Amino acid sequence: MFGFLKKVGDYTRDAVGAANYLTQGLSVTFDHLKRRPVTVQYPYEKLIPSERYRGRIHYEFDKCIACEVCVRVCPINLPVVDWVMNKATKKKELRNYSIDFGVCIFCGNCVEYCPTNCLSMTEEYELAAFDRHSLNYDNVALGRLPTSVTSDPAVIPLRELAYLPKGEMDPHVVDPARPRAGQLPSQVQTAPAASEDNA
Ligand code: SF4
Ligand code: SF4
Repeated sequence: MFGFLKKVGDYTRDAVGAANYLTQGLSVTFDHLKRRPVTVQYPYEKLIPSERYRGRIHYEFDKCIACEVCVRVCPINLPVVDWVMNKATKKKELRNYSIDFGVCIFCGNCVEYCPTNCLSMTEEYELAAFDRHSLNYDNVALGRLPTSVTSDPAVIPLRELAYLPKGEMDPHVVDPARPRAGQLPSQVQTAPAASEDNA
């Protein structure tokens, strides 16, 4: 008799546990059923990249001094700085500069350490190509300015999730004038250094 009651008790406990797990699983399913998908109709709609987006590198030939710092700080020694020494002036003469975006990992080291700031990262992310060799950009291609998503008349710019007002999920229904959840980098005040305080 005691064994039978124990079996009934075990069975009841297992059945309650299974029902509990089933309810938890279904609650997640129903929670997702309530949400509507937010789909951006690319390429007619595009998300606005963040201020610190690391896209295709822009290069200014006239500012480059061919120091090759960008090559030395690059984890894969990627930038190719083609220069010759002018024996008359004893100065380097830059001939060509190139970066292969089929290999670049967009770490930003070259931009960070360039002493003349002739490199910068743009918001351009559409780098798909049929031939990977065409991703090797020379100084002319690198010097082209990117087309901004917000200034392209053929595109509807949409804010990505991190730049929407608090609680909003769908960029299609948000009034452009409504402020975003976080602050712009220009609005973030950095605390003065301790050494400046003591000066
Ligand atoms: S670090 Fe800057 S200045 Fe020096 S070679 Fe590279 S791009 Fe030119
Ligand atoms: S972004 Fe990084 S990987 Fe690409 S060229 Fe610059 S240093 Fe090299």
